[in-house]
Amino acid sequence: MKNEKMKNRDLNVLWHPCTQMKDHETLPLIPIKKAHGIYLEDFEGNRYIDAISSWWVNMFGHTNSYINEKIKEQLESLEHVILAGFTHEQVVKLSERLVKLTPPHLDKCFYSDNGSSAVEVALKMSFHAHLNDGITKPLFVSLKNSYHGETIGALSVGDVELYKDTYAPLLLETIQTQVPKDMSEESALNSAVAFETLCEQRADEISAIILEPLIQGAGYMHMYNPLFLVRVREICTKYNVHLIADEVMVGFGRTGELFASQKAGISPDFLVLSKGLTGGYLPLSVVLTSNEIYAKFYCDYNKHKAFLHSHSYTGNALACAAANATLDIFENENIIEKNRELSSYMAQKLQKFEKLSNVKEIRQTGMVAVVELQGYEPQERIGLKVYRYGLKHGVLLRPLGHIVYFMPPYIITKEEIDIMMDCAYDALKSL
Ligand SMILES: *Cc1c(COP(=O)(O)O)cnc(C)c1O
Repeated sequence: MKNEKMKNRDLNVLWHPCTQMKDHETLPLIPIKKAHGIYLEDFEGNRYIDAISSWWVNMFGHTNSYINEKIKEQLESLEHVILAGFTHEQVVKLSERLVKLTPPHLDKCFYSDNGSSAVEVALKMSFHAHLNDGITKPLFVSLKNSYHGETIGALSVGDVELYKDTYAPLLLETIQTQVPKDMSEESALNSAVAFETLCEQRADEISAIILEPLIQGAGYMHMYNPLFLVRVREICTKYNVHLIADEVMVGFGRTGELFASQKAGISPDFLVLSKGLTGGYLPLSVVLTSNEIYAKFYCDYNKHKAFLHSHSYTGNALACAAANATLDIFENENIIEKNRELSSYMAQKLQKFEKLSNVKEIRQTGMVAVVELQGYEPQERIGLKVYRYGLKHGVLLRPLGHIVYFMPPYIITKEEIDIMMDCAYDALKSL
């Protein structure tokens, strides 16, 4: 009853993201009263394991006592200050740490407040850097099946029909090159050849290629081999095309290293981070780039050469405090090492899905485990059935179409992995 009441108040005044609101005539909308660790709790005391880290942002659980404490501490001294002409300790400290932790030659941090706006920053900076060199390069390349956010520029370099089709007439002209079709080295090399061919023909028009290293998240958790990134890095350098690594989803340990680019041993020209950056607490994003690119904008005042981009909440102090607390936990608790054990445990558990007749493929990269289903039509909305089953049994699964995936916070235990994955298994068996 309490859930119902809150639901009705909500539907009176809210319009929810990524939702056909009419679905809520039959689909429960779940009001969350509180959350702790990996558990969400609704107004009637039902608990749900957050198997998708609340849209891929949560790293160390909800109401984490350490992060809470650090935000409260910050709250006593400074909540926010304009970042143009002013600075503060949390943003300086965070930037120093990010420069140290990310691949070589990423020396400067530019902040905004969500993944999409950071993608816009990277695209504009790339174009502008070439322009400051006297070259106009109006085109961006991205991978087929890619996702980079939903503002107009970010949507333009994306390639997931579901989000893009409707707005096609509004979007920038971009080029999609092929993504390796599987995790083999062979397909990585084949796709690299396709990109190189494109560069041979049109590199003088192309500012950058933007890609999601190793896992295309919203693109149905498609995964590919790090060798592709190695080759793309070489090709970009050869043809003076920037490489933008959108690690909004894969960053902060999801792939098994702190950053996915590190698994390929590459340094992108721009590294885009958000989601896990604040441990899932507050909106914050950052674009890192090299001193070399920074230098192209550095000169006596000339309005055309400076990067005159800004957002009101750029470098928010509370968000930066949450990000510093998150990095503390990574450092102090040896998280990347511990995750290796969790991900190999998930790999074991994943095996048994293979025997189900409606399973087409299982795959995994680090802390992202995927079960791909087969034999269903899109209008069956099979993912929705799995979602409903999960909720009924205390697990928040949120399949992408026919892709069921697990991306839990890193504090999950093996026993909780059992509950989470057994629930999904039972759901698939019941279909
Ligand atoms: C989520 C996501 C974005 C967009 O981030 P928002 O904060 O939702 O705007 C961009 N790129 C990738 C790879 C993402 O997963």
